[in-house]
Amino acid sequence: MAAGVLTGQRVVVMGLGHFGGGIAVTRWLVEQGALVTVTDTAKPDKLADGLRQIADLPVGLRLGEHALSDLDDCRLLVVSPAVPKDRSDYVREARGRGIPVTSEMNLFIERCPARRMVGVTGSAGKSTTTAMIGAVLETACVAGRGPRVWVGGNIGRSLLADLPVMTAEDVVVLELSSFQLEDLEGLRWSPPLAVITNIEPNHLDRHGTLEAYAAAKLNLVRFQGPGGLVFVHETDEGVARRVAEAGAGQRLRGVRFDSSLASSLRLPGRHNQDNAALAVAVCRSLGVEEPLIRRGLSGFAGLPHRLEYVGESRGVGYYNDSKSTTPASTCLAVDSFDRPVIVLIGGRDKGMPFDEMNAHLAARAKGVVCYGEMGHSLHEGVRACVHAVAGKTAVVEASTLEAAVRAARDLSVPGDVVVLSPACTSYDLFANYEQRGEEFRRLVHALPS
Ligand code: ADP
Repeated sequence: MAAGVLTGQRVVVMGLGHFGGGIAVTRWLVEQGALVTVTDTAKPDKLADGLRQIADLPVGLRLGEHALSDLDDCRLLVVSPAVPKDRSDYVREARGRGIPVTSEMNLFIERCPARRMVGVTGSAGKSTTTAMIGAVLETACVAGRGPRVWVGGNIGRSLLADLPVMTAEDVVVLELSSFQLEDLEGLRWSPPLAVITNIEPNHLDRHGTLEAYAAAKLNLVRFQGPGGLVFVHETDEGVARRVAEAGAGQRLRGVRFDSSLASSLRLPGRHNQDNAALAVAVCRSLGVEEPLIRRGLSGFAGLPHRLEYVGESRGVGYYNDSKSTTPASTCLAVDSFDRPVIVLIGGRDKGMPFDEMNAHLAARAKGVVCYGEMGHSLHEGVRACVHAVAGKTAVVEASTLEAAVRAARDLSVPGDVVVLSPACTSYDLFANYEQRGEEFRRLVHALPS
């Protein structure tokens, strides 16, 4: 569909959200001259943030409910990836009436002029790998040795507004969630360069089975042309098998981390070496020269709240891994350092089993500070594990994050690392993980240097 076709047409945007897609697509549709109605089952107070960002736009609002009458004369329904379409009566009704159903990402992809597009998906490491590819390509571009690069998608940035200035020579790097990939099927299109970081059980509440989830992920490679490439980890046989089953076995490229790059990589952890291996392979395939790959990697400090280095106080390094809301990612965080680690865990329970993590922390951490709603039960759990192995790990309980930072500081000596990697959600004390990480950053910056 050409952009002009939207002029004067009624379009319904289903799902506004707080940031990213819904807001950006609403603005873009209005700019195309469409007559837009935004509908969301959330009440206006829950959507205050998003509503503020579209307050200047002439759009109709249907909040707290969906009304089928909004579909009268509707020519296009743009559905947020957060909506489970198969279970939505509203989407079913629209389809029944023959109204085309699309998404912010599909609208972008249909119009994107860039010939070289990189799509990144996986269960963990998507944002980091996407941002790393972007950072290396940007370094090459700034040095005058590479194309202009645009980074967007699930990483939290819509590229719709940038379409008018994009060219065929630019490179577009998209992080794609499994929900966005579900929609991609409608276009029968896959990016020429595809990256799959891993496939682990995730979002099964929405996809139903691991098979359905993996099938959505594989839309990333299913419709590639013959020149396409699919980058996965050399050792990840499970993903390789799935890629082959999706008909892309010939295009598969297994990669591994090139240890000569280790000194250029600033991010800690084996998992970040894995992410870097994929990023480097993609950049090499796009022709970026080795010195610029090194420079790009060494300039990449990581994304906020993912083992982000926050600062040093009295010889102790502080890291913010607030994005960690699972026991597995907390284990990963502790394993990322070869120095003694004091880890801050706690928050709100989301029904995860903690036994393995507790045992791992008792074996690996120098200290464990348990705080928030889960503080008491984690304290009991880790302490039992420390007793069981007659370990030396100090286990402390604290009420607030502030008290937890103080306790960690008291346990630490120069050369140690303190990492906030909570293994739980932030909702006991904070609005979201970003706010939790920012509070941690503030508390650390208030420590003596
Ligand atoms: P995503 O965008 O897929 O959620 P991120 O890059 O934001 O992934 O990383 C989120 C968390 O996932 C990190 O803080 C880390 O705990 C974990 N992680 C990152 N990369 C990997 C990887 N390659 N393998 C396993 N876990 C990873």
